[in-house]
Amino acid sequence: MVDEIAADPSHPRYASLLMRHRLEIAAKKGMLADSALIAHGRGEAFDYLLGERTTSSAMAATRQALACLQRGKKPLLSINGNVAALACDEMLKLAEILRCPIEVNIFYRTERRMEAILAHINERKRVLGLDVTVLGEHPDARIPGLKGPRASCEKRGILDCDVILVPLEDGDRCEALVAMGKTVIVIDLNPLSRSSKKASITVVDELSRVLTNMIAIAEEEGVLAPSPTYDHDKILAQALASMMGNFTEG
Ligand code: ATP
Repeated sequence: MVDEIAADPSHPRYASLLMRHRLEIAAKKGMLADSALIAHGRGEAFDYLLGERTTSSAMAATRQALACLQRGKKPLLSINGNVAALACDEMLKLAEILRCPIEVNIFYRTERRMEAILAHINERKRVLGLDVTVLGEHPDARIPGLKGPRASCEKRGILDCDVILVPLEDGDRCEALVAMGKTVIVIDLNPLSRSSKKASITVVDELSRVLTNMIAIAEEEGVLAPSPTYDHDKILAQALASMMGNFTEG
């Protein structure tokens, strides 16, 4: 990705500035909903509390999530405007490693935004030379229990998948996907969000850090085994405790 920003890479807030810059570019391309920057700001605040690092509980959740994706019969990666803006390359690389499709699925669905996001993903796919199926352009199914355009999806994608990664998902859709019997993996810096609570596995960590970790683990260790003793509620409690600990340490 071309990231020409004025900030020096040695700047202590470089990673944060880079992510903001990616969102600015995506906004200009018409990829983002009006509320996208608010959602990002909320994430930044939680990341500050976390110390902008991957905690051991987040790493345990990352490994469990990767194991479930690797062992899934029909895994799928869902991508929205913010995810495409912040970590398109990493999503494509992970999809290639897992040999699974990506589906564009956005909350505020308009033709213009879908086209802008699909064009961005397909351009990055071409530049990276990756062979990944990108779905979402031709929805022919609906997620049961949701109303309006945000329920639209593809039968061979979101409808039929058994394990789904939905980074930065909203609570309603997360709940609807869980109700369909899928293993739903959420990445969300807010351990208190409805999505974080409702998901099967929640990684409380910054999106690009999680995807970079998943790619490195898959390349170094191959196929993982899910932990039979994995405890979703405990992992969320540990994430919150890390934030409180960081806060009280001052
Ligand atoms: P819910 O409906 O699940 O209660 P919400 O209304 O906060 O949550 P959104 O407005 O869709 O849902 O917010 C998206 C979530 O993504 C926020 O909780 C925010 O903390 C998180 N988030 C934003 N940017 C990032 C990022 N880069 N990495 C991880 N999480 C992020």
